[in-house]
Amino acid sequence: MPAVTPYERAMTFMRSAFDRLNLSETEKDLLGKPQNIINSTVRFKLDTGKEASFPAYRVQYNNARGPYKGGIRYHPEADIEEVKALAALMAIKCAVVKIPFGGAKGGIQVDPKKLSKGELERMSRTYVTVIADSIGPDIDVPAPDVNTTPQIMAWMRDEFEKTKKVYAPALITGKPLAYGGSLGRDKSTARGGFFLLQELAKIEAINLEDARVAVQGFGNAGSEIATFLHDAGATIVAVSDSQGGIYCKNGLDPIRIHKYKQKTGSVRGQYCKGSVCDIERMKLDETETISNEDLLTIDCDILIPAALDNVITSKNAKDIKAKIILELANGPIAPEADEMLAKRGVTVVPDVLANAGGVTVSYFEWVQGRSGNRWTADRVDHDLRRIMLQAFDDVRTEARRKGLSLREAAFNVAVGRIIETMRVRGWVG
Ligand code: GLU
Repeated sequence: MPAVTPYERAMTFMRSAFDRLNLSETEKDLLGKPQNIINSTVRFKLDTGKEASFPAYRVQYNNARGPYKGGIRYHPEADIEEVKALAALMAIKCAVVKIPFGGAKGGIQVDPKKLSKGELERMSRTYVTVIADSIGPDIDVPAPDVNTTPQIMAWMRDEFEKTKKVYAPALITGKPLAYGGSLGRDKSTARGGFFLLQELAKIEAINLEDARVAVQGFGNAGSEIATFLHDAGATIVAVSDSQGGIYCKNGLDPIRIHKYKQKTGSVRGQYCKGSVCDIERMKLDETETISNEDLLTIDCDILIPAALDNVITSKNAKDIKAKIILELANGPIAPEADEMLAKRGVTVVPDVLANAGGVTVSYFEWVQGRSGNRWTADRVDHDLRRIMLQAFDDVRTEARRKGLSLREAAFNVAVGRIIETMRVRGWVG
């Protein structure tokens, strides 16, 4: 049997919302597939002088509510199916938080960790020349995603401005502060997720100080949310990165792990060398190395998948012990697993809500780029909190009214908003 693609998984969630909302055939057809797909190749010179080429994509899923919006991913598994899935999720996500954007995603199917800095720059600039005619502040606004950084966004804006001979501060978001970035954008995905957890804790009368948390993925989003939760008094019992993870029943210190990871490039590396947790304490507390798979099923209260997609499947869903899962990654739970978790009463805060803080502050950055005004960090934080809590309230209200999971409710809310705009624009009858 051919493997189920990431796109099919995302569309399973989308199509069940179409059915619940009784969309017409025309509506299903229009919202059931991407509007444009750029399926191309980036060719650039390696340091050796040889030419390299990699598949490169930009999928523009839907722009009913505003310019296409979504990040660019550099990953060996970022093939067209994955980029299509992520583009669809972006359309839903922007509608959940009610920001005036559609959905898109870009990707280069490459392992960027094998490239030098010069090669990475040449590849990123070439990518922009490939998609330049299809992007722009009013058309499609890219951003960072897995393995892409503020520096890469700066190269891309610079290349676009040179190629098109324009000044375009609102072309792309997630830029460095020195070149049109916004305060708070770097921590925004985690910050948004943290606001939701604080609210959920209030609603479910949970004390975050008593919560034991496991975080899979120690990139931008994962390391920052571990830090916010640690600062709020929660116990971070496990973290991991692509190389493996560590478990410490009495709690790990995310800031020290972050510093160590910056030095050594791996979470497990810091454990082996023993310079994050104090080694004596690690022994006392029985800190262990664990695999990424083990991390998902360890004993904890809150599980935060913050790495790649499809990590919780029908195989391991029954072994998950957490009562709350916050999806900071895009698509970490497969549809069958989602059903199993819902049946078991696990609260899943879905990706399209949980990690929407990133694109929300991207929206603030875009607004600042267009107006020329600069926002304070306090204003960013305040407005992010307001938007995240409003979206959470909208989703919970829909869930309660119709007896749905938070994911089903989020898709209902988002699809309803997109279709409403498509109707008033006269795209559908
Ligand atoms: N890549 C992030 C996401 O998946 C941010 C997208 C953006 O800021 O446009 O939500």
